[in-house]
Amino acid sequence: MTLLGRLADEGLSSGAEVSVKLSAVGQALPGDGEKIALEHARQICAAATAAGTTVTLDMEDHTTTDSTLGILTELRRDFPSTGAVLQAYLYRTETDCADLAYEGSRVRLCKGAYHEPAAVAYQDKTEVDRAYVRCLKVLMAGAGYPMAATHDPRLVEIAGALAVRHERAKGSYEYQMLYGVRPDEQLRLAGQGERVRVYVPYGDQWWGYLVRRMAEKPANLTLFLRALTSTG
Ligand SMILES: Cc1cc2nc3c(=O)[nH]c(=O)nc-3n(C[C@H](O)[C@H](O)[C@H](O)COP(=O)(O)OP(=O)(O)OC[C@H]3O[C@@H](n4cnc5c(N)ncnc54)[C@H](O)[C@@H]3O)c2cc1C
Repeated sequence: MTLLGRLADEGLSSGAEVSVKLSAVGQALPGDGEKIALEHARQICAAATAAGTTVTLDMEDHTTTDSTLGILTELRRDFPSTGAVLQAYLYRTETDCADLAYEGSRVRLCKGAYHEPAAVAYQDKTEVDRAYVRCLKVLMAGAGYPMAATHDPRLVEIAGALAVRHERAKGSYEYQMLYGVRPDEQLRLAGQGERVRVYVPYGDQWWGYLVRRMAEKPANLTLFLRALTSTG
């Protein structure tokens, strides 16, 4: 809420949206967790609307997917621009993409960041990449607003090619990357007139976020330590 107020005050809300992890607003609580998360998310969506921007629900581990998509449906009744994240590594995601590829629907497609079992997710990197392409094809061919969240150079190229194939105007889809990852590529795409959004962690609950990024890419630890010890 504070962040949304600040974005509005600084006149930045048209260029920024907020991502919310439902686990941070109660989803994992026993009993009424889902209801509590929905109520909190509703308040955040209302604040985002007042600030002139939108909310995207981050996707967490596969045990929360149905609950998160259910909350998305509820939120979209009052806040139709609320976006969702789908993870290409889950077997179910191609179907979820088809379900969400409708007019006004905003979908961020990522590979997926959690360690998931073979019962629900592809384990092999190449399989995940192939699934990402299949999902992206569905989203780009659909009527919604695809958000290609990847730093993978091949997938970035394929996203561009699919946008051309489906005669999508620049700005009818976007690229998303993490703050500090491939910044030159972010600038290159923006320089070509593409819409690029950078995901910036905010707030004091940064430890869990940092640990997940480290687990995902241990090489990040070197970058992090270098940044900590750098004086420049
Ligand atoms: C905007 C955004 C939002 C996201 N939201 C979610 C979410 O809600 N739920 C979820 O499960 N996951 C989310 N993710 C994470 C995502 O699922 C992947 O784990 C992450 O993006 C790495 O996958 P990749 O597509 O970049 O490909 P990878 O195959 O992991 O990486 C391709 C190349 O990109 C570079 N690279 C990738 N990641 C990093 C890094 N962290 N640091 C340095 N270099 C890197 C490397 O050069 C690497 O070789 C999000 C990612 C982005 C960009």
